[in-house]
Amino acid sequence: MGRTELEKIVGAAAVDERPVRDMWPLGIMEERAGIPAPKVLVVRPAGREQVAEVLRWAASNHVAVTPMGGGSGVCGALGPAAGEIVLDLGGLDRVLEIDETNLTCSCEAGVNGYALEQQLNSRGLTLGHYPSSLPLTSVGGLIATRSSGQESSRYGSIEDMVISLAVVLPDGSFAAPRPGPRSAVGPALHQLFMGAEGGLGVVIGALLRIHRQPEATVGRGFAFADVRSGLECMRSVMQAGIRPLVLRLYDSEDAAFNGFELSAGECALVVATTGTAGVAAAEAEVVKAFAKGAKPLGEEPWQRWQRHRFDLSAERLKTFLEPAGAYLDTIELAAPWTVLPELHTRVKAAIAVGGLALCHFSHAYEQGCCAYFTFGGSGDTEAEARAAYGRAWEGAMSAALELGATISHHHGVGQARARWVADELGGWMRVWRAVKSGIDPEGIMNPRSVGGRS
Ligand SMILES: Cc1cc2nc3c(=O)[nH]c(=O)nc-3n(C[C@H](O)[C@H](O)[C@H](O)COP(=O)(O)OP(=O)(O)OC[C@H]3O[C@@H](n4cnc5c(N)ncnc54)[C@H](O)[C@@H]3O)c2cc1C
Repeated sequence: MGRTELEKIVGAAAVDERPVRDMWPLGIMEERAGIPAPKVLVVRPAGREQVAEVLRWAASNHVAVTPMGGGSGVCGALGPAAGEIVLDLGGLDRVLEIDETNLTCSCEAGVNGYALEQQLNSRGLTLGHYPSSLPLTSVGGLIATRSSGQESSRYGSIEDMVISLAVVLPDGSFAAPRPGPRSAVGPALHQLFMGAEGGLGVVIGALLRIHRQPEATVGRGFAFADVRSGLECMRSVMQAGIRPLVLRLYDSEDAAFNGFELSAGECALVVATTGTAGVAAAEAEVVKAFAKGAKPLGEEPWQRWQRHRFDLSAERLKTFLEPAGAYLDTIELAAPWTVLPELHTRVKAAIAVGGLALCHFSHAYEQGCCAYFTFGGSGDTEAEARAAYGRAWEGAMSAALELGATISHHHGVGQARARWVADELGGWMRVWRAVKSGIDPEGIMNPRSVGGRS
């Protein structure tokens, strides 16, 4: 439907028809079980005028539009139904300016996350944003999912990196980046688009905060007797004002899965401090003092972690999910330090439905951190696999909500968490719905974003 009109806007070569879905494991499992994604029109605009025109066309024809970046989302936020269209932002892929004096970078939304980081690195700069999926991502997708990377304890998550945004609203009007480095001219409205999963409009560009690459890094590993003492060390480090490049605690099962050589029951802490050589070394000493009850493991765990930091690839995920009945997923929660030990115990019990149940803690703050769970197994039938998978999710979400943890630290909502969003947002759901219906009165923007249509 509408192919001819869309071709008039972007050109025939920039429209094709194919199934589109992201890396949501349940979507991959459905495909395997014989429920394929429907074919939809995928439109690839070449610039902001074309984005605006497509949205105006969609609004006047009541056709739902889902923006697409790298397609690496894991929650099914990118999962268009038949008759909807997908707006592929891959054509907006220019890095417009790298300002080495003011340490800002201006780029379009379709720029690949890894390519951008490499371009910055070649000038001794970094965005400091390293999701494990970085090569698969786009800047727009990183923003729309409110993503967080492996170095977030030092550089923050995407909301700390974005100074302002350029967006196209559903009626085809534009909002350009506002001046920085900060502004008190009303609320930071661009923040509404971070985590909106394409539900409010299309991010077409961003003004990003960048950093000089640090001169030196000191990485170490420590073995802790249990999760609680490892978490106490992480809390002490963060509350001492140290901002480690990497700070990750693997519970005993996750440590074994990742090949750390420990005694039974032990947990592995991998920590790297960074800055000028003197600062990196001095902070490493402070960390060592906080880890005095633990067994020092030297540099090997840090080197091992660096070698494997991008190992959980999309290909590996797909390979694991290939056999009939297999299931695997990750659930990233976040909670205050005082809640984390109980969250760990309860969620581990809930997800241990099929054999594989792992957890590591990363993305640390002074107030708490993210608990990242991985679970998997195999059912005799597809129905059994789906049931076990569903029980794991149900148990993890209930435990998080009961303990006051957030149900997502950085993957977002999509279809995976749609039924629990209102439980976490409470009265904020009314605010979200008002914003959504005010900006998108026709309801054309991604129907699978943040709990669905208002
Ligand atoms: C193996 C693996 C590891 C991962 N590791 C991490 C991790 O460490 N940290 C992390 O945060 N995430 C991680 N992810 C999840 C995923 O990579 C992130 O959510 C990423 O930000 C998605 O970016 P994308 O460009 O692929 O977005 P897509 O999947 O294309 O889209 C995601 C959502 O953003 C919307 N969107 C995309 N572009 C735009 C735009 N320009 N304007 C408006 N809306 C838009 C889409 O409509 C959709 O709702 C991982 C995924 C995989 C498969």
